[in-house]
Amino acid sequence: MPSHQNVETFAAVDPAYLSSQKSAAASTSEPNRNHKYDPKKPHITETPLTRRNWYKHVNWLNVVFIIGIPITGLIAAIYTPLRLPTAIFAVLYYFATGLGITAGYHRLWAHTSYSASVPLKIFLAAVGGGAVEGSVRWWARDHRAHHRYTDTDKDPYSVRKGLLYSHLGWMVMKQNPKRIGRTDISDLNDDKVVQWQHKNYIKVVVFMGLIFPMLVAGLLWGDWVGGIVYAGILRIFFVQQATFCVNSLAHWLGDQPFDDRNSPRDHVITALVTLGEGYHNFHHEFPSDYRNAIEWHQYDPTKWSIWVWKQMGLAYDLKQFRSNEIEKGRVQQQQKKLDQKRAKLDWGVPLDSLPVMEWDDYVDQAKNGRGLVAVAGVVHDVTDFIADHPGGKAMIKSGLGKDATAMFNGGVYNHSNAAHNLLSTMRVGVIRGGMEVEIWKRARDEGKDAVYVKDGNGTRVVRAGDQVTKVHDPPASAGAA
Ligand SMILES: [Zn+2]
Ligand SMILES: [Zn+2]
Repeated sequence: MPSHQNVETFAAVDPAYLSSQKSAAASTSEPNRNHKYDPKKPHITETPLTRRNWYKHVNWLNVVFIIGIPITGLIAAIYTPLRLPTAIFAVLYYFATGLGITAGYHRLWAHTSYSASVPLKIFLAAVGGGAVEGSVRWWARDHRAHHRYTDTDKDPYSVRKGLLYSHLGWMVMKQNPKRIGRTDISDLNDDKVVQWQHKNYIKVVVFMGLIFPMLVAGLLWGDWVGGIVYAGILRIFFVQQATFCVNSLAHWLGDQPFDDRNSPRDHVITALVTLGEGYHNFHHEFPSDYRNAIEWHQYDPTKWSIWVWKQMGLAYDLKQFRSNEIEKGRVQQQQKKLDQKRAKLDWGVPLDSLPVMEWDDYVDQAKNGRGLVAVAGVVHDVTDFIADHPGGKAMIKSGLGKDATAMFNGGVYNHSNAAHNLLSTMRVGVIRGGMEVEIWKRARDEGKDAVYVKDGNGTRVVRAGDQVTKVHDPPASAGAA
């Protein structure tokens, strides 16, 4: 039996269902099952969405939790004056519950990027529960599938299905449990805190999400209603929206300094919104690193918190990739970008695509008025360039129909790198038996293409000073090859 059959009902904010699942566990390593799930019956997502059945596609319980309740909170806020201590507490509690998700659910449990002592685990499982985003177990399982199957159909919140889908749609609309990629969560099933939180999820959510903020504001400064409206309901809404941005915004906005094959991106705005989870391109490349931002000046309060907990003896075994590994990824991506840029430039017709000319033909054509000049065995048509030649018309004309290798390489004037580059765009043929070309052809015929550097697309890379026309210590100019 696949371990992912219960995705639909283990939706992000589905405490009622979760609490009814205590006895349904098949084994300690298998997630709980839905009694109602029948693998033979076609899932609703397998039937096309129509005007008559659309409501069956909607996960109504999630709609209530992530859309309905916030609207209720907004309406209640109109009638509830916001008091300063409640406002300050709501912001602080926003950060605490947000950290429960980023430092707890995400970096500790989904990625095991560090180890936490039991008190810290309890704290994170509690405040994380207060963010109302499902149990650790459910959240981390989907998140592991998201990393393993990023951007594919098995990714539970693939941004390829649209920004709104990755943000909310995946929770608002029912998902086919057969579709979500499988992941191993045996470590989470062995974690007592995770187990306890999963089994008591509804109690955790109600207490940490609503009752606790109400108690704090009520007992300490007498603002019971404000506590539940602002530090409870509206704070839940903001923390949910912020962390949902990791699935949407972080796959949509920003740069890809480590790998651009998938959607994750780095952006400071996403980082500001998500308590530092915005360096998501890095994170998808190095998921088990406890950091998301690797530079000291980048905003990653989640990383700072984990570091502080380490100093307090609450967190240990903080995992970190060596900067050597990180820089390799960065350099490779830069190389790739450079290759793409290089591919857009005109480097001249590749030598193996040029026609082979006999020396006598070359001389004849040049004599008959075609502005041909041979350098290092490559024939160039410089007719249109003669007038523009910086060294003067006479100079270039003196090379027509001759082997100008030595002249071009210092005999008369040692041409610049740019001149060699420019010359390459005028190539029209190669001389049979021509010097450099002959060496190059032999290497090619012997399958020794590797003597030349190639880019990621197999195109030859011409380094500065490495052009085929660049010849060190050329023989003296001769009228014939
Ligand atoms: Zn992601
Ligand atoms: Zn992650």
